[in-house]
Amino acid sequence: MKKIFKSIRPSPTKKKISFLKSKTETAKHPLHIIPFGGCGEFGMNLTCYVSNKRFIVVDAGSVFPEAKKLGVSSLIPHVKHNFPKLGKLEAYVVTHGHEDHIGALAFLYNEMPAPIYATPWTAELIKRKFERYNFAKPKIHVVRAGDKVTCFPFTVEYIHVNHSIPDACALYIKVSGAKVFHSGDFKIDKTPPDNKKINYKQIERIKNEGITALLTDSTNSLSPGYGPSEMSVVKPLEKVIQRHKDGRVFIATFASNYWRVKSIIDICHRLKKKLFIDGRGLNDSLSLAEKIGMLKVPKDVLVTRQNLSKVNRKNLVVLATGSQGEERSSLYRIANKEHKLFSVDKNDLFIFSARAIPGNEKGILKLTDEILREGASIVNAKVNPDIHVSGHAYQDELKTLIKLVKPQYYIPVHGTYSLLLTNANLAQEVSRTIQPVLLENGEDILISNDKVTKKKNVKLKFERYYVDSESNHPISEETLNERLQIGELGLVNVFGVMKAQSKKWLKGPFLEFKGLSKTGNAKNANLPQKVQQEFMKELSAYLAKKKTVKTKEVEKESIGILRSVLAKFYNKRPVVLCKIISV
Ligand SMILES: [Zn+2]
Ligand SMILES: [Zn+2]
Repeated sequence: MKKIFKSIRPSPTKKKISFLKSKTETAKHPLHIIPFGGCGEFGMNLTCYVSNKRFIVVDAGSVFPEAKKLGVSSLIPHVKHNFPKLGKLEAYVVTHGHEDHIGALAFLYNEMPAPIYATPWTAELIKRKFERYNFAKPKIHVVRAGDKVTCFPFTVEYIHVNHSIPDACALYIKVSGAKVFHSGDFKIDKTPPDNKKINYKQIERIKNEGITALLTDSTNSLSPGYGPSEMSVVKPLEKVIQRHKDGRVFIATFASNYWRVKSIIDICHRLKKKLFIDGRGLNDSLSLAEKIGMLKVPKDVLVTRQNLSKVNRKNLVVLATGSQGEERSSLYRIANKEHKLFSVDKNDLFIFSARAIPGNEKGILKLTDEILREGASIVNAKVNPDIHVSGHAYQDELKTLIKLVKPQYYIPVHGTYSLLLTNANLAQEVSRTIQPVLLENGEDILISNDKVTKKKNVKLKFERYYVDSESNHPISEETLNERLQIGELGLVNVFGVMKAQSKKWLKGPFLEFKGLSKTGNAKNANLPQKVQQEFMKELSAYLAKKKTVKTKEVEKESIGILRSVLAKFYNKRPVVLCKIISV
């Protein structure tokens, strides 16, 4: 035993040599760490590691935009202009398969392809994304926890961590003497659902190499103590399901949390309930687990659509998507009587085994209102906090990782500014010798000669792109603004055919109003007609003054006149489009 321990720990002299070596190397080519997302905000995690004009991208996530009602499903960082400045892109290195870590990858890859490194579960999720967008197959190298890969000049080692999705890993990134531990999203689960604890042995070995900087997940840095284990939800959830004897049980949870899905399958098996799984995300999660060989669903638990009518309602559990009140999700359609198979019954119980993601509260309230209106009952994490746990480290878990890794510098990532700040203070609580560094999107920190410094006054600017929820096409901020303007202000379209020489209208001009009041109010009625009359009066006066006219000039003048007439009658400046054809 002693011998093995010795071989893992480098001898003190060896350690000295490696530090000396690192100093000469780092002097030549320092490491830059530049986050393009996730630092100072939630979601859209993307961090570039750059050295000697070569770089790797760790994670490429998206975020659900606040403007989702306008037909966009996610917001992604647009780094096309910045990436070439960094040098040659060697690889995309992915920690795990949550949207805020892989949501933008397909779009980035299409613009700047490079090999993708990901664990089996993550790789499969990435592949499916490319398929859904109809993009060409990406080049993915499947790696496993414990593997070390070289993306020259970087070496990246994968370390197993616990999280609310299978196959999540932290990364140990080494380049020209700089040694960085990038935690990714993690928690330290003492009783993990897959029985695989965080790899202490591997972390111990890495620590002994002397870590320059530790980057950690700040999501729960405000939560004191140790977070409860994923397995702690099983008994409370089972109790709630078991106690409900009157009718069906509907459970909503995050589709990506395979552990929760698996627990619900096991509970149904124990309680001899029939389980119907509804929603693409959940079925995707199950088929993925079966494909990877992680799941064997006990016989007679799952019920098919065809056999649903044969199941006693009191014996049926429905696992559905829509814990965030998302429109078009399974639960939303059930609550709003739009679902083909189910509608809410007063004897039903709805369990929300999930937390409300900030920004989604209104949607969830609307959904619960619909359910309660039908007389059904609801159990959520507010009523029973034991039915959901977070997949992110609490304060004591963060401190444990700091103690395990013993970095010289501590860099909180993945969170709003206040979360980063709180997380930074945790390092000081562990040891005064660990120096916290606050890093925000676009800032550049430099690791050279085992020292971390932040480049002053450097903040790279980069755009963000939206993804259209129907077509999945990326759309720019400018395009979304056009959509916003049409939505907020309405649109008026002018169309006409004119004889250029005589300045006579052969057709029109017609005015078409979209999204504007067709009537007006009692004081100011028949607005479209009034606008039309005034517009024609002013346009005719303009044309009368002109000897000859050019189509483009008439179009320009028409837009100007119409804008001022609309402002007068509607007290609003709608979007105006004009097309005049001259013959
Ligand atoms: Zn995650
Ligand atoms: Zn995350």
